[in-house]
Amino acid sequence: MLKWIYDLSYEELEKDIAHLYLPRFVADQVCRWLYEKNINDIACWSNISKKNRETLSQTYDIRLNKVLEVQADREGNRKYLIELKDKYKIEAVLIKEKKHFTMCISTQVGCALKCKFCATGRMGFKRNLSSGEILSQALLLKKDAAENSAPGQKEKINIVFMGMGEPLLNYENLSRALQLITSEKGIGISPRNITVSTAGILDGIKRLEKDFPRLKLSFSLNAPAAALREELMPISKKEKLDDILAYFRHTPRKHRVTFEYVLIKGVNDSLQDAEKTAALLRGIPCKINLIPYNPGGSGVNLESKVLLAAKRLNAPPREWGFETPAEPEVEAFCEYLHSRGYTVIIRWSKGREIKSACGQLATEI
Ligand code: SF4
Repeated sequence: MLKWIYDLSYEELEKDIAHLYLPRFVADQVCRWLYEKNINDIACWSNISKKNRETLSQTYDIRLNKVLEVQADREGNRKYLIELKDKYKIEAVLIKEKKHFTMCISTQVGCALKCKFCATGRMGFKRNLSSGEILSQALLLKKDAAENSAPGQKEKINIVFMGMGEPLLNYENLSRALQLITSEKGIGISPRNITVSTAGILDGIKRLEKDFPRLKLSFSLNAPAAALREELMPISKKEKLDDILAYFRHTPRKHRVTFEYVLIKGVNDSLQDAEKTAALLRGIPCKINLIPYNPGGSGVNLESKVLLAAKRLNAPPREWGFETPAEPEVEAFCEYLHSRGYTVIIRWSKGREIKSACGQLATEI
């Protein structure tokens, strides 16, 4: 049976190549074709001899996962339904920004954390993605971004790990994929253009910041009071908010933490909530994204632009009983945080007339 090449680290590939009695430099050549040029047809690898290409094709499966469906909106955002080898399906999103693309990538099939207003959480947890399945999404989307760019233009790419699943509960595979995504032997995306979003897995946050100190971190806050947060995000019964914030407060880092806050009418949008939030985050270098909830659901773990794109691309499977706060309430919440010295951005959905999406990515509800 052929080995799926994307599951191999650079070092593992190098070792394999040596066992195949191929010259050492072939590992570098293979990586250049796969990750820099994004060409996964061995026949096209022109600087590798025919004999060596034959050996490679008898050893490795270099096909990326299969894209079953692509949905696009008028603004150039694209959502991909991707089939894995065991027929599970995941989703990934490519967001067209003014001067770059942002890829939103999944790390698990489903999610065990069951945040109240997240479609992925409703799927339940199926399995972790392998490092190759994470990497494969980046390569598929990179290829598509290149095909959707102006001729000759090399678009900058950001990656956000805000798709299906809690990335830090699949740390080993996330970190293996990140090695190849950030390395010069791999795709070569700068860690400062990569954001990992978490519902709050403290050990995972610590490991990530130790292993990848230049990466950006986004944390789904959504409520300043522990009781309410535990209700919206059951994981916080185990992973205590105070412990996570104490860690953020006392650990120096290269980038400010982004706190994501989905504002839900009558649930977490009062001025008292704003006051509590301001007090809670005092002393933590951070920025805050306020995301007014849209009927149909919005994901707590999505960065706003990803969220908005996902909304425009999805149709809601059901209403979840939450409501959008009125604009003056959102402004007042924002103003209060501003007045306390915070950098705050409100992310209104442009697509609110479209019955908005479940926000999160889900394939089997
Ligand atoms: S918001 Fe994130 S962590 Fe929560 S259930 Fe959804 S995918 Fe899982």
